[in-house]
Amino acid sequence: MKFHIVTLFPESFSSYLNESILARAQKNKLIDFKFYNPRDFVKPTKTQTKHDKPYLRVDEKPYGGGPGMLIQAEPILKALTFIKNKIEKAQKNKVGERKGGTKNKIKIIHLSPSGKKFTNTYAAGVAKKFDHLIIVCGRYEGIDARVKKIFKGDELSIGDYVLTGGELAALVMIDTISRQVKGVLGNQDSVEEMRNASPDVYTRPEILVFNGKKYKVPTILLSGNHAKIEEWRAKQAKKF
Ligand code: SAH
Repeated sequence: MKFHIVTLFPESFSSYLNESILARAQKNKLIDFKFYNPRDFVKPTKTQTKHDKPYLRVDEKPYGGGPGMLIQAEPILKALTFIKNKIEKAQKNKVGERKGGTKNKIKIIHLSPSGKKFTNTYAAGVAKKFDHLIIVCGRYEGIDARVKKIFKGDELSIGDYVLTGGELAALVMIDTISRQVKGVLGNQDSVEEMRNASPDVYTRPEILVFNGKKYKVPTILLSGNHAKIEEWRAKQAKKF
């Protein structure tokens, strides 16, 4: 799974993506990340120099008035065109290498607090069906609505609250989708159907002493009776 992320703040991703399971998955070439800054798709005007502020601007006031700024359509459209062309080109070079030259499957995700709710079921679906996910992160008051009309995709929200930008939402989705990619969790048993599906989990010590009080592991988990343990876990677990 290749994630292509369109963002004004690519640096905000690295510390999270380069730790633990996601770092290992990248090393094992199970997932891959590419970042595209809309600013790189803006040309300076003839008279502009790097010292002019704002340089390479991507934001403008909204039509119809209102507070805040919007990201203009053009830099995002250029970035998306660039990404799609790049994927297609890589595809062409690969044809023949792959059996039957199956086409790359691309999905575009437009982040928006008003979008459809992102779920684990959605994550499992895209992990299975697509090779490339293009995630478009907004900032300020969002992106000119013509972008999602031109580059059709899924408009998704991670919850009923408004963030200052799409980067956190993108990270939530990347994390959730990645753990559904085969091999990422190492032990495939951990993935949904067979995972340790319980909100309450326990590890050593068997008896925890804290402030003079003892906290025990539920005896069922020490019973060795796997059928009963699974039944106990299933009763507590949330179904996605
Ligand atoms: N004015 C917009 C909000 C913009 S928030 C509105 O009323 O809908 C700025 C950007 O943050 C959005 O473009 C989107 O990319 C991202 N964002 C904010 N909240 C989000 C959420 N709950 N889920 C996904 N993306 C979100």
